[in-house]
Amino acid sequence: MSAGGVAAFIGLGSNLGEPERQLSRALVELDGLAHSRLTGQSPLYGSRPVGPPAQPDYVNAVARLDTSLDAFVLLDALQAIERSHGRVRGERWGARTLDLDLLLYGDRQIDTAVLQVPHPQLHLRAFVLVPLHDLAPDLELPGLGPLAEYLPQSPGRDLWRLPQRTDG
Ligand code: ATP
Ligand code: CA
Ligand code: CA
Repeated sequence: MSAGGVAAFIGLGSNLGEPERQLSRALVELDGLAHSRLTGQSPLYGSRPVGPPAQPDYVNAVARLDTSLDAFVLLDALQAIERSHGRVRGERWGARTLDLDLLLYGDRQIDTAVLQVPHPQLHLRAFVLVPLHDLAPDLELPGLGPLAEYLPQSPGRDLWRLPQRTDG
């Protein structure tokens, strides 16, 4: 890895403020982080919200970042990007302009109050599992086993592929 670090996987989600634009900006900002390089991005997916009802559908994707930032420093950087997108922390799982979750940080397992890796909901969420599998089909989830074993059996109505954007 040219950044001399680990492969981190970041889950991106947005359901406010032109979600596709939020995600495309966020990908550029991830690539611009110090000691880090964006090395992969999944297709975009639409998903039905979990959590409070009556919020717009989400746009989701997963990015791979080669980084030599420490995991906690990376989490701070992700939260700074969220804030720069005008994220307001309200109700749990409520609508947001941008959510960046640190899904995986190499093969590390971290369990602290501020950071748990692998992300505790990763293996339960189709909108994370499917784009992660697009990027890294052979991935092993630390402490959990092969990613492929957690993939939903059928695509389901709560997740759909969005058309590829070519206009940035
Ligand atoms: P969920 O974590 O279930 O997807 P959420 O993304 O809506 O819910 P947030 O409000 O964005 O939750 O984050 C709440 C806290 O979760 C953050 O302040 C952060 O300290 C903590 N956290 C723990 N592990 C992680 C992780 N792997 N990635 C991002 N945040 C994490
Ligand atoms: Ca989240
Ligand atoms: Ca989050």
